[in-house]
Amino acid sequence: MRIILLGAPGAGKGTQCKNIVAGYRLQHLSSGDILRRNRSAGTDLGKKAQSYMDAGDLVPDRIIIDMMSEAIREAPLAGFVLDGFPRTVNQARELDESLAGDGAIDAVVNLKIDDSIVQARMTGRRSCPKCGAVYHIENLKPKTKGVCDHDGAELVQRPDDTPEVVANRLETYHRQTEPLVDYYKKNGTVFDIEADRDPDEVKACIFEKLQTLVKL
Ligand code: AMP
Repeated sequence: MRIILLGAPGAGKGTQCKNIVAGYRLQHLSSGDILRRNRSAGTDLGKKAQSYMDAGDLVPDRIIIDMMSEAIREAPLAGFVLDGFPRTVNQARELDESLAGDGAIDAVVNLKIDDSIVQARMTGRRSCPKCGAVYHIENLKPKTKGVCDHDGAELVQRPDDTPEVVANRLETYHRQTEPLVDYYKKNGTVFDIEADRDPDEVKACIFEKLQTLVKL
């Protein structure tokens, strides 16, 4: 099964990807995670992507398409979930071409959420620079304010979670990524899912839709 997970930043794509991957034994291919790993490792790709990511802008299509084509080539035949890719119509067209004759995308899961909720979710997020644990200043507080429960490290805000950058990421999403919903509605199956709910409810709704796909 080959799935694309679409949705604004902060819609819960990461969490729901983990659920789908575990439930259907698929490979999770997250463009954001691959970019962050490259940044941590100090690769050329990571260095090229850095300034775009910190500003909340998209990394140029060519860089992303080459990076994700390689990840897809290495993915198991059983299938994968694409998370954060494609993000532009150009990336979607190239993906279609690269998959032609090799089994297309089975479905697009589209997580729908209001901008105001995304703003609150993302700007309140804090993470541990040491172990990667994620907290929220309102909904998922650490035991001691500003300090990681696991290792006592001081929690930080990701540079791309500041209010200005979140606003830019949302604007970029509406302008460049949202048109993909119509692109895929013309060419295939799109499951619209209301994402402003308890993550378990969102998961149940996604699984109900995915069960309707024949090729499991
Ligand atoms: P994410 O974790 O998916 O929100 O991605 C973090 C950042 O990585 C984005 O704000 C972009 O700067 C960059 N990025 C991730 N995926 C893509 C993509 N498909 N196209 C362009 N830039 C991307």
